[in-house]
Formats: sequence, structure tokens, C-alpha cells
Amino acid sequence: MEAKTVPYDGYLDTPFIPGSKWRVHDKTRPLPPVVQPGAAAGAPPSDAMVLFNGKDMAGWVSVKTGDPAAWKVEDGYMEVVRGAGNIRTTAQFGDCQLHVEFASPVEVVGNGQGRGNSGVFLMGLYEVQVLNNYDNPTYSDGTCGAIYGQHPPLANACRQPGEWQSYDIVFHRPIFKGNKVVRKARFIVFQNGVVVQDCVGLKGGTGWMGPHAVSDYQPHPDKMPIQLQDHGNPVRYRNLWVRELAD
Ligand code: MG
Repeated sequence: MEAKTVPYDGYLDTPFIPGSKWRVHDKTRPLPPVVQPGAAAGAPPSDAMVLFNGKDMAGWVSVKTGDPAAWKVEDGYMEVVRGAGNIRTTAQFGDCQLHVEFASPVEVVGNGQGRGNSGVFLMGLYEVQVLNNYDNPTYSDGTCGAIYGQHPPLANACRQPGEWQSYDIVFHRPIFKGNKVVRKARFIVFQNGVVVQDCVGLKGGTGWMGPHAVSDYQPHPDKMPIQLQDHGNPVRYRNLWVRELAD
């Protein structure tokens, strides 16, 4: 194919889009960056930061001690080790797109919140619940796919225990001015391709019962680590990657 010598088309004499510095079809508006999608569904695209190498816990430390994360790694996945505690990335993130794959323990133990409980915490504070709710009802705002304690998922899209499942999360951090939140945190979440959170705003950090569950925002930095929860159940994770988004 012949090389393109003409730049892309566009206009310089169209009306301005109300509230924008750009004209309709503006020729000077920056082009979207070219990103090579992953070859298979869920594979990291070219500009993603891969958070787990499948071989060891590099890039992950204990939330409590800051020591290297003591979760088990086997066959390309990591697994919660009861008592090893929550882990976090050493890297920090604000607004982002996050892909996570997880699997509930094959051996079904416990009921309600005790069955395959874990969680993905954006900025270490805002939890997307991980739970085995395949044929295991629990309170709605603690169901798998919930923004814990605040927003039940729109659907229960859980696969059977042991099967790999995916979260695709779009997260916008809260913005603070002094001690006040001027933009609340927001989530869009797909579980296994099913939308379970449709641009929901948060009342504050997530937590179990009061007062944490209903607490207001506490000001925090613009970027903070992503956390995974040790809730005592051997939940597995693999293929975790993130793309930072502009505010
Ligand atoms: Mg949890």
C-alpha cells in the first residue's frame, strides 16, 4: 500500500462545540493514541502495565508490613494464603482501567460472606467485592460485583467455583479541595462481560458495617496502590493489568 502523504481530514471553519475549545470535526484536535489490543480477549493491550508476571510476587507487598507479599504462586496464578494478609502493588494509581481475573476455590466451604471472599481495592479504599455467589446468596451490597456496602451489582454474573472470571473496571478517583470532596469516586465494572456497575458514585470509602461503611471521604493522595484482600479463603488471581487514565 502507498504511504499516506496527506494528513487526516477535518475542518477549521465549523462551529465550536459548546463548552469546548474544539470545533466540530476539528482538524487540530489531537488524535487518539494507537494502542495494539491484546491478541485474545482480556490479554493486556500494548500500553498496559502488567501487575503480575505469573511467576512470583514481584511488585506486590504486604499492606501491613511492606514485606514481599507471601501469597502462593503456582501455574501462572497467585493464591491467597490465609493469614498472609492483604497485599498491595508497589506502584500507585489514580484514574485507571483495571483488568483482573479471579477464581473461587473449587472446594466450596462456608456460606454467605464466608464463601470465596476476597476483594479488589482501588486506592486501597474502594472495594469491588470478590465472592463466590454461584448458588450462594448473601446481602445484596456484599454480592460479587458489588461496590462493597454501597452498590449491589446490577446482575449476578458469577461462574462456577474454580472457573476463571474477569473484572474490567473503570475507576475515577475522588478529587479533593482541602478537606472537601469536589468529585466523588466513580466505578464502571464488567464481570465476565456483563455490566454490573454502571457509572456509580461513592459516598466515601467502602467498609464492613458502620461507621466505615457510611463514613465520609477522607482526603488522600492522587495516586495510591491497588490492593487485594486476604479474607481467609484461597481465592486465585491472574492476568492483572492496568492502564492509567487522564483525570
Ligand atoms: Mg471482600
